[in-house]
Amino acid sequence: MTTNLLDYDLEGLVAFCEQLGEKRFRATQLFRWIHQKGASDFEQMTDLAKSLREKLKTSACIQGPKVVSRHESTDGTIKWLFDVGAGDVIETVFIPEADRGTLCISSQAGCAVGCRFCSTGHQGFSRNLTTGEIVSQLWFAEHFLREHLARKNRQDRVISNVVMMGMGEPLQNYAQLLPALKVMLDDHAYGLSRRRVTVSTSGVVPMMDRLGKDCPVALAVSLHAPNDALRDNLVPLNKKYPIEELLEACTRYQAAAPRDFITFEYCMLDGVNDQPEHARQLVSLMQTHAARGLSCKFNLIPFNPFPASGLKRSEMQQVAAFAKILMDAGIVTTIRKTRGDDIDAACGQLAGDVQDRTSVDRRMAAQRQGMLGGIKVVVLKGLSQ
Ligand code: SF4
Repeated sequence: MTTNLLDYDLEGLVAFCEQLGEKRFRATQLFRWIHQKGASDFEQMTDLAKSLREKLKTSACIQGPKVVSRHESTDGTIKWLFDVGAGDVIETVFIPEADRGTLCISSQAGCAVGCRFCSTGHQGFSRNLTTGEIVSQLWFAEHFLREHLARKNRQDRVISNVVMMGMGEPLQNYAQLLPALKVMLDDHAYGLSRRRVTVSTSGVVPMMDRLGKDCPVALAVSLHAPNDALRDNLVPLNKKYPIEELLEACTRYQAAAPRDFITFEYCMLDGVNDQPEHARQLVSLMQTHAARGLSCKFNLIPFNPFPASGLKRSEMQQVAAFAKILMDAGIVTTIRKTRGDDIDAACGQLAGDVQDRTSVDRRMAAQRQGMLGGIKVVVLKGLSQ
C-alpha cells in the first residue's frame, strides 16, 4: 500500500519524509515538484537524490483524480466529472473571466445538508472526500489548463481564485479541508492569497469559528432567506443554527477575515424568497447586524432549475427589483451571471445524471454522436493523470 502524497500539506510531507530519513528541505523540493510542476512521476524529479527517488517509488504515489468526462461550454466554462469510487462522482468547474480564473471545488461526494434548491442536496450524502481528493481537483485542473493554454500560446496565470462551492458542505468535512486549504495557500505550492480562496458554508457555526482561528480565508454564507421560518424550509441546517446565531458567527469571523465583508449568497426562487417584502426583511436584518459590526455584500444567484426541485428561476425583472431594494439601503449587491448553462454547470446536475442510469444511457448515446444539444462533450472514460 503506497501513500498518496496529494494527501499532505507541507508539514505532513515533512513528517512523511522524516520517516524515510530525509531532511525538511527534501520535503519542500518534493512539494514543489508535485504542486508547482505537476509532476506525477518521481523519475521527473531530477534534483532529488536517486536513493530518495527509489524510496519514494516503493512507498508513495502521486495519484490524481480519475476523469469521467470533460464538458466545455461555449462561454469557456469547463466542467469535469471525477470518479471517486463506489459509484460516486464529483464535479469541478473552471470559470474563466477577463480578470481571473476561478476553480470551483467539491468537498464531499453528495451532501447531507439537503438544501431544497440544490441538486447535490437531493442526491443525499455519500462520503467525505479525503484531503488528496480535494487537492487533486486543483492539481489536475491547474496543470491541465496550463497545457491547454500553452497550446494556445497564452502565458497568463490560469487559476487565480478557488471557491469551495462545489458538491458538499466543506465545514462538515473540516479535518480534510484544513490541510487542503493550507496547500492552496502555500508559497511552495499554489501560493494563493487568503482573499482568493473562499469557503462557502450553509452555516455550520462552530466550524466557522474554528476556521476563523485556524485558516481565515474569505467566507461566503449561503443565506437564501430573510427569516427562520423560510430558511428552515430551504436550508434545513437552519433549524440547528438559526439566522441570529449564524450572523453573530459571521461578525466574529469578520475580525480575522482577509476581506472587510462577508459575502452572502442568495438563490432567487420564483415566488418563494424573491418578493419585495423579503428584500425589506433582509435590509432590516442586515442593518441590525451592521450596528453590531457586520459588513456584508450580497450575491443574488439565478436558480438553475432541475425537475426534482419543483422550484422555478425568478424572472430577471424580479431579481433586479430585489437588488434595487438592497442597494437603495446601501448594501453592495451583485447579480451572478449564469455560466455554463449549456453544460448543466449548476452544482450537482451532471453528477446527479451520472447516478441516474436512464439519463446516463441517453447522454452516452448523444456523446457517441459527439454532440449533445449543440454542446461539445469530451468523454475521457477511465483516464487518470
Ligand atoms: S447548497 Fe451546498 S450545503 Fe446545500 S445541499 Fe447543496 S452542496 Fe449541500
